[in-house]
Amino acid sequence: MASFTISMVLVLFVASLVLPSTTALNIDFTYHNFPQMTAVLRQLANEYPELTKLYSIGKSVQGRDLWVLLVTNNPNEEPLLKPNVKYVANMHGNEPVGRELMLHLLSLLLDGYGKDDYITWLLDNTRIHIMPSMNPDGFEASSEGECSGVQGRGNANNADLNRNFPDYFAGRPKVPIQPETRAVMDWIKQIQFVLSGNFHGGALVASYPFDNIPANSPKNFRKFGSPSRTPDDDVFKHLAEVYSFNHKNMYLGVTCRDGSPPFSNGTTNGAAWYSLIGGMQDYNYVWGSCMEITLEISCCKYPKSYQLPQFWNDNQKAILQYLGEVHQGIWGQVTDQNKNPVSNATIKIKGRDFGTRTTYRGEYWRILRPGTYVLHAEANGYDPVELTVDVSKGVVIQNITLYQQSSTYYEPRSEPTFQRGSVPSITPVHNAASAFRSGSLKGIWPTFTNFLKPKEAVIFPRNYVYPTAQQLIDYSHPSNRLLLNYQYYG
Ligand SMILES: [Zn+2]
Repeated sequence: MASFTISMVLVLFVASLVLPSTTALNIDFTYHNFPQMTAVLRQLANEYPELTKLYSIGKSVQGRDLWVLLVTNNPNEEPLLKPNVKYVANMHGNEPVGRELMLHLLSLLLDGYGKDDYITWLLDNTRIHIMPSMNPDGFEASSEGECSGVQGRGNANNADLNRNFPDYFAGRPKVPIQPETRAVMDWIKQIQFVLSGNFHGGALVASYPFDNIPANSPKNFRKFGSPSRTPDDDVFKHLAEVYSFNHKNMYLGVTCRDGSPPFSNGTTNGAAWYSLIGGMQDYNYVWGSCMEITLEISCCKYPKSYQLPQFWNDNQKAILQYLGEVHQGIWGQVTDQNKNPVSNATIKIKGRDFGTRTTYRGEYWRILRPGTYVLHAEANGYDPVELTVDVSKGVVIQNITLYQQSSTYYEPRSEPTFQRGSVPSITPVHNAASAFRSGSLKGIWPTFTNFLKPKEAVIFPRNYVYPTAQQLIDYSHPSNRLLLNYQYYG
């Protein structure tokens, strides 16, 4: 009897070793064709339902799903201000190292949750969307071991997807927008991604926008590889360096081909390397308010599979660290005076022209390096707001309240006028904002300012937008001395 009990215990013990319930799939270091890749993604989703959500953003020309696996600690909820990040790989079908690394990344994240502190923090605070293949048709048409060919680079219509996006400088692409491109454009529109990486092969460098150059650039601009900088050049450089310096050797800047100039720190502005029209990273930045960089991770476009463990080894730390880079800058929620979210508000940082728009819940995210920034928020029907925000480290949460303009706002407006000696008979109004909104405010009469004297006033037309303190100064006196105190009369 006693021996029976012991053997039962042994059987259970051995069974638990063979079928561990929390171990991620052991992903083979081989290339997975479309059915195999789909099976891996399905298996991961089935094994970790509490950490994943598998979805398709559309189909390729030949009808293959464009799979995305979302990895986060509560995939069915969207906590306020939890940022969305993405990785897209295999956009060029014959550059599939990233495709395989994405499967290993998924396994690592899912297995590491609850065990590894960084991975647990990442999943608890970030929604990570991973698309192993944006061009599954091209992959099926390409061949292992082909280091520099173009077979399988394009989709099934032989369109290069990384030349197929609307371009900030050149407009719509000449080739019709492909189903794969359209799916990604819709995806970016639907989800406010904040940070993104796009995996390629054929070089070893982290490249950042712009890829294209202004149409009126001098002829030699293109020829001599001048950088085409965004106003967020500091942020992009930083992001690219986070990847290159966490990579085993990318930061060394060694080029894949003899005679090519080395990449300083393993990073480059896209256009400084070579300019192209219709790239995905420029599109993400300009239209998606998403900081995307392009990661060229293998000199050989389609290396033999025995090299995959080495590539995983070289990139693993960089891939993980880069995802955490979303957690810096200014985030917040925009609401109106009644605490209702204001969607589609534009958030801009002064000096950085490309703004971001708030989500349906009024959320915004802006990756920024430490510094002092002037943030400008505006939305249709609301008075604009400008704030100075200090970013020292990590994320600063800056919620913003926008006040609705009065219903009379849309009437034609006339400018405020400065009046002397003929101050109207008016009664004090202490809540200037509400007075302006109701349209009852006619003017201001300062009591403790240096620049408006007795019997002077600034008269606002009935329907004038609630002025900012700066505007009051501008309208009342040219000296721009600080407006210390003022009373309102309506
Ligand atoms: Zn490529």
